Amino acid sequence: MSTVLLQLNRVQHHYAEDQILDALSLSLNKGEIGCLLGPSGCGKTTALRCILGFEAISGGEIRINNQCVSSATTTTPPEKRQIGMVFQDYALFPHLDVVANIGFGLHRLSRTERQHRIEKWLRIVHLDNAAGKYPHELSGGQQQRVALARALAPQPELLLLDEPFSNLDVNLRENLSLEIREILKNQNITAILVTHDQSEAFAIADKIGVMFNGKIEQWDTAYNLYHQPVNRRVADFIGQGAILPGKVISTQQIEIELGVLNGKIPFDCPTGSKVDVLMRPDDIIHEDTSPQQAAILHKAFRGAEILYTLQLESGDKILSLAPSHHNHEVGEKIGIKLAAEHLTAFKPDS
Ligand code: ADP
Ligand code: MG
Repeated sequence: MSTVLLQLNRVQHHYAEDQILDALSLSLNKGEIGCLLGPSGCGKTTALRCILGFEAISGGEIRINNQCVSSATTTTPPEKRQIGMVFQDYALFPHLDVVANIGFGLHRLSRTERQHRIEKWLRIVHLDNAAGKYPHELSGGQQQRVALARALAPQPELLLLDEPFSNLDVNLRENLSLEIREILKNQNITAILVTHDQSEAFAIADKIGVMFNGKIEQWDTAYNLYHQPVNRRVADFIGQGAILPGKVISTQQIEIELGVLNGKIPFDCPTGSKVDVLMRPDDIIHEDTSPQQAAILHKAFRGAEILYTLQLESGDKILSLAPSHHNHEVGEKIGIKLAAEHLTAFKPDS
């Protein structure tokens, strides 16, 4: 059975008059990786500071291992929470070598235990060969691995990572995020990552909370955020897509220009009413022989795939992802087929 490690129940936070966090709720099981994903300024760092105990909250509660650590009336100090932290700028001690940085939080251990712990983490983050180096002698990726080892060596209950890859080159980012996910999973670490970058969130997290203005609008898996967003704002923030007009034709069916979609309509609406339907690029496949046709307005070559922007007969636009050997020209009409396996609809202008 899975145990809940971290719980936020309707957490409120204010800076003076400004409400920064608004009824923020989430629940994370032991060993799970959660992510707060949202634009800059939406309150992600503030949420982490509340979890750490650096900020008092003005309402709701935060529980770790089912113990209340923050409420409107109590705040357990940070040092009693057993939380490790990794920052965007690594925040390593520049005058300490890798070994001393990793050993920094281990003063309570005996000399031998301390040495063992440091060796273990040097191995885990693949820095055995850099033990005696100083931060300025390491690459950004290596520095962030030292920061991770330093945060995890004291065996915290929970790890928080605030935009940990933002200072790294794009191609390094993806590799390091996958590597860090593997380390966290192997060590059964419970963690919360904060980022404004969707691909980072998707690469690392089991559960993602999409945040706007201090509120989590949807706490869900990457798949559901992409294919079953709860509203237009989440749909627009997560990935690409097009909105097509649709008509409700039964309790489980919506008709659009390309055909009929089956699935649960996520809100109350009578047969005959108009709705907006979300179509992702992978919901429309390209098939040379399909009688249904659309004209190519734009194409974006992405290596293995081409993202086509297509215009339907009605004039409405859709996106379609095709294998890149299906290389057609702008202006050409190509065959398409509806391949949506689920139905995502919103009330018009919601
Ligand atoms: P994010 O990490 O998502 O970019 P932050 O949590 O840093 O967002 O900030 C959320 C909001 O809180 C912003 O509007 C920011 O200006 C405000 N804020 C952050 N820190 C303080 C502070 N110490 N005093 C007053 N306002 C703050
Ligand atoms: Mg921040």
